[in-house]
Amino acid sequence: MPTSSIAILVVAAGRGSRAGEGLPKQYRTLAGEPIITHALRALHGGAPEARILVTIHPDDQALYEASVALLDASARAALLAPVPGGASRQASVKAGLEALAACAPALVLIHDCARPFVSPGLIARAIAAASATGAAVPGLPVTDTIKQVDATGRIEATPPRARLRAVQTPQAFRYDLILNAHRLADSTGQSELTDDGAVAEWAGHAVHVFEGDPANMKVTNPQDFAAAEARLLGQLLDIRTGQGFDVHAFTEGDQVWLGGVSIPHSKGLLGHSDADVLMHAVTDAIYGALADGDIGSHFPPSDPQWKGAPSDIFLRHAAQRVRERGGMIAHIDGTVICEAPKVGPHRDAIRAKLAEIMGVDVSRVAVKATTSEQLGFTGRREGVAAMALATVRLPA
Ligand code: MG
Repeated sequence: MPTSSIAILVVAAGRGSRAGEGLPKQYRTLAGEPIITHALRALHGGAPEARILVTIHPDDQALYEASVALLDASARAALLAPVPGGASRQASVKAGLEALAACAPALVLIHDCARPFVSPGLIARAIAAASATGAAVPGLPVTDTIKQVDATGRIEATPPRARLRAVQTPQAFRYDLILNAHRLADSTGQSELTDDGAVAEWAGHAVHVFEGDPANMKVTNPQDFAAAEARLLGQLLDIRTGQGFDVHAFTEGDQVWLGGVSIPHSKGLLGHSDADVLMHAVTDAIYGALADGDIGSHFPPSDPQWKGAPSDIFLRHAAQRVRERGGMIAHIDGTVICEAPKVGPHRDAIRAKLAEIMGVDVSRVAVKATTSEQLGFTGRREGVAAMALATVRLPA
């Protein structure tokens, strides 16, 4: 079946309280990127022509947009506009299925975004199983013996282990079958079914199990986060350091740009672009870590289209080059050298801005400032210099 007649519905509307404090778990980072970003990239990689629709919590629009901004253009183009989820997982899936009616897919894969390790092989098995049977879920044999207990903890039954399966996502269905099953469940007040296989079963359909993937773990508890992060970082063992250095001269003006932040000053900085000396040093440090040229080779100053350009274009490009290699920016350490303006009061704003542009957590970005004790060109207040180091992790 061509993947153009397939839709993927990603359930990301939950609050994820089991994962601990802070952000909803689907937006917490693993190896520098939100879980949802990893999951969407993996789903697109396994079914490049499928349309992908995400159900999100209405409060999470900005988090969602920041997460999908880290995807490449091809993956972003596969995404339909997100739809708000409902009060339960089941209600969120129904809302997503209703929103897919406009593209009327033949099959739909329904995936929990807390499973970021979904593989192309698993996606292919899901598509094949749903094409053959109409309703199929990935399952794995269980290795633990499972007990059914009553409210007091007393064992009521020991189901034979050989017949048990631990079920994962993506679960795959004929679109009309699962849409109608969800509508029926909703209209009869059946609202707490915990997976879509159960909704199809409840509606009277035969649901088949195909081979799951032990690597397709669900990231739920704090220890799952630690294991998932270790697994991702364990794939990024080619650790590189790059350096960047830049200078811009003072000229007439009333502000200087440092790290994407405008700082009021009695002078401006002269340059072909916005002369953001710190952002240029950081950008070159990343290119250096990749052994991938420099700002001038990617954005030639002879090309008039970069005249007056905001420098975040350069930094976004460098960060994207890291992601295209399957890597992450582990750390940035920048130093601004000048007598004035004072950088300290703007340090945290600069760190936040640089982190946002690169799509990394602010805890991975350091900004420092020093003077040159009135010596040399920075000491004579003729200009501003900046140095930066970038530590980048790439697949080994
Ligand atoms: Mg420069």
